[in-house]
Order: sequence, then structure tokens, then C-alpha cells
Amino acid sequence: MNKPAIAVIGLGHGGMVAAIKLRQQGYAVTIFEKKTKEDVGYPWYDDIRADIFECCGLPMPPRDCYTNKGKRLFISPDEQNSLKVPSAKPMEEISIDRRALLRHMTALCADAGVTVRFETKVDALFLENERVRGVIVGGEKLPFDFVIDASGLFSPFRGQVPVRFHVQSQPGKTDVMTAWRGFYRWTPDTAAPDPDRNIYIKHQSSVGLSWCNLNDRGEVDVFVGRIGGMTEAEKDAAVAALYKNHDFFSGDVLREGQWGYISLRGPLGRMVADGYAAVGDSAFMTMPMMGSGMECAMQAGLWLAQHIADNNVTDFTAANLWGWQVRYYRELGARYVFVDLVKRWVLNIDVDLLNWLFGCGAVTNEDMGLVSTDPDNPNKLTAGKILKKVAIVLKKPAVIRQTAVWMLRAAKAKKIALSLPEQYDAAKVDAWQKKYDGILTKLEEKN
Ligand SMILES: Cc1cc2nc3c(=O)[nH]c(=O)nc-3n(C[C@H](O)[C@H](O)[C@H](O)COP(=O)(O)OP(=O)(O)OC[C@H]3O[C@@H](n4cnc5c(N)ncnc54)[C@H](O)[C@@H]3O)c2cc1C
Repeated sequence: MNKPAIAVIGLGHGGMVAAIKLRQQGYAVTIFEKKTKEDVGYPWYDDIRADIFECCGLPMPPRDCYTNKGKRLFISPDEQNSLKVPSAKPMEEISIDRRALLRHMTALCADAGVTVRFETKVDALFLENERVRGVIVGGEKLPFDFVIDASGLFSPFRGQVPVRFHVQSQPGKTDVMTAWRGFYRWTPDTAAPDPDRNIYIKHQSSVGLSWCNLNDRGEVDVFVGRIGGMTEAEKDAAVAALYKNHDFFSGDVLREGQWGYISLRGPLGRMVADGYAAVGDSAFMTMPMMGSGMECAMQAGLWLAQHIADNNVTDFTAANLWGWQVRYYRELGARYVFVDLVKRWVLNIDVDLLNWLFGCGAVTNEDMGLVSTDPDNPNKLTAGKILKKVAIVLKKPAVIRQTAVWMLRAAKAKKIALSLPEQYDAAKVDAWQKKYDGILTKLEEKN
């Protein structure tokens, strides 16, 4: 019997990992990518854990397309105080050329025997009898047994899935960071900053962050990100403020700025339907604080292929795919729902209180190791250290009030996320999803 045929929409990272692994299991896999081979991805470097490749059983990208990730310094909104994140071990996290990464992964797809069709836009899902039966390309219905949606944050396909699966069609306004990134020349004869990565939290009292850094290639990398949208004028004002504060920022454009959108929320409540699964940004799989999504997508793509192999799935129903969503939530998703709520705390806390927190000594550079990726970080939070912090924070009851409310909400959201039914039962899954979506949409309305 022929193995089922699988379509992947978009050259998303998770879709590609799933495609390679499923092809290795003997499935016929086709990826449809609307852009050209040259245009796909972003013209810059982004951060990713290096071990994700080994974890997915893939070779590392060529050595010349990544560098070690730099040290990070978080700067308070009033720019008076900062907190430094201890650096990760060399090459633990890498800064990678996004286009070279896609070239590397596309080559791996081709080696595995996956068909990759560039410049081929999928117009819509092909539906029949309340089930996804394939894709529509150039008006033609192309039948597939299973469609993996790796088309990114604004996937139009989620909204086409039969309504009985309740797949949320679009993210809420405050679930998305509108980002602008531009590259400039380094001002001659100016010193390189140390540490090399500054991140301005609530820059200019905004709901978002900015940075102005000098990368390993001697380029000034300017980023402005705002949750809930950003006008050209707001972006210009932020860039002008960064220009004023950084001697090494010449203002001389190297590469035109580019707008982008970053998912900053907990994962999609329903990732699977009959004949369909969403992976990566199309399932809101980023880390909601910083928006890193490449490794979550790759991990999820691997787990999807493993789930299909382990359960010998040949009929791709929501029920048969549900175990994959359960694994994602248990291993990553629930943690990220917690982070989503912590992010909302940071964004909702008064700017003055945040400034105070940066400078009061309750949070130290040592503590910032907790947000680094080093699992062997020696700086643990001991009872003594916690007591000292509590004594400082007690001086500002407003901090305790605002923090306690959000931490309780975060714990509740995580508990709900973890309570998803182990087995697929449509009524139970609907009831769970109502609770889960409810907590995020209620907060979205409040923001
Ligand atoms: C400024 C910026 C900085 C970021 N920094 C980081 C970082 O440091 N680390 C990190 O991990 N992540 C970062 N991210 C997030 C990261 O880009 C995403 O999380 C990541 O790309 C995962 O998305 P994906 O693989 O699911 O899909 P995407 O990368 O969004 O790819 C989707 C693909 O689908 C294609 N497509 C869409 N519609 C169709 C269609 N109808 N037919 C065919 N093809 C289609 C698109 O052309 C695209 O190639 C950043 C994002 C931005 C914008």
C-alpha cells in the first residue's frame, strides 16, 4: 500500500523538520512556498540554541553562517539602571544568518527526497465533508492525506478549517509585536559597546522594546518593536532617540529597514483538525517574552513526525493527531503560557515601578542568569536571597500588589494549559479549549 501523501504550506522551520522526518519514514511530502528561493527568510542574523539541530537529528548549518551569541544588557525605561544577563557558554546559543539557515534546511529537504515548490502560493485549503483534503493552488484542487500549515503568524488557513474544530483564525492585537529592523554603518573611530547587546525595556515608555547594537560584522543593528502596532512616526522617534544615545550609530543606512511581526502569546488552543495540523508561528509557538520561534517550531515539527511514526498514523484525524498537541503543551506550551502572563505583567506594570525594580537591588545581575539558557547556571535563588529580596520589595506595596495579581494569573493559566484532556473526546476538548482560550482572550481585551 502507498504511504499517504503530505503537503506542507510554507517553508516554516517546523514544517521543514516534519517534512524531512516524514519523508524518511516513506511518506511523499511536498512543500509549497510562495516566495522565491532567494527571497525567503530575513536578511539578518537571529538567535537560536545550537543543540536544536542535534536534537532534531540534523547536521549543523555551515560554520560560516553563525557566530556566538553576545552578552545582553536590559535597560530600564528611564535608562538609569540596567541588568546584565550572564553570557551563555560559547556556541551554546548562536546568532544565525536566517537565509543561510533556510538554504541549509532546504538542501536537507531535497536530500531527504522532499519536493520543494518555490513561487507556488497555496490559495486555500481544499475541504470536503468537513475535512481538509488537500490544498488549492492556481485554482487546482491538489489532494493530500494530511496538510501541515507552516505558513506563519498570519496563516489564512486556520480560518478555513471547518468551524467545529474551533481553530482561532487570527491572533489578537496585543498578541503581536510589530517590529522594524534596519542596519546602519558603524561611525568611524568610535568604540564598540560592551556588552554588545542592549535591550531597552518599555523604550520611551512604550509597550515594547528597542535595541541599538553593533553586531559581529561591524553593522549597527537597530530594532524597534511595539505590541499592538506602531506607526512610521513612532518608529522614527524611537530610531532618533537611539541615534542620539549611541556614538557608534552613524545613521548612514547600510540596508533598508524591514517591517515584521512577532508572535508573543501562548500556543494556539486547537492545533489539529481532521486532515490538518498547524506548526510554528501558525500555531503561535514562540517564546512569548522575546518572540524566539525557530527552535519551538523545529521541536514541534520533530514531535509531530515522531507522533505519526510511534502511533502509525495513516488516518490523519484530529483524534489521531491530538496526542501531538498534548505532548507540545506538556513539554513546552504550558511553560510558555506562564511566560505569556509574565510578559503581560511587565507590560502592565507602571513604568515608575519598573524603573524602581531595576534600581532597588531586588533583582541583580546574578538573578538574570535565570533567564539565560545555561542549565548549569551556578547562581541559584536560595531562601536567604529570596528573603533579602522580599525585604526590599516590601518597601513598595504597589509592586507586590501588581506582581501578585499577575503571578497568580500566570499560575492559573499554566494549570489550565496542563489540564488538557489526555485522550481526544470532542466535547471534553471543546470544554477545555473554552477555558484556555478564555483566559488569554479575556486578558487580550483588558490590555
Ligand atoms: C524582527 C524579528 C526578529 C526575530 N528574532 C528571532 C530570534 O532571534 N530567534 C527566533 O527563534 N525567532 C525570531 N523571530 C521569530 C521567527 O522569525 C519565527 O518565530 C520563525 O520564523 C518561525 O516561524 P515559522 O517557521 O513557523 O514560519 P515562517 O518563518 O513565518 O515561514 C512561513 C513561510 O510560509 C510562507 N507562506 C505564507 N503563506 C503562504 C502561502 N499561502 N503559500 C505558500 N507559502 C506561504 C512564507 O512565505 C514563509 O516563507 C524573529 C522575528 C522577527 C520578525
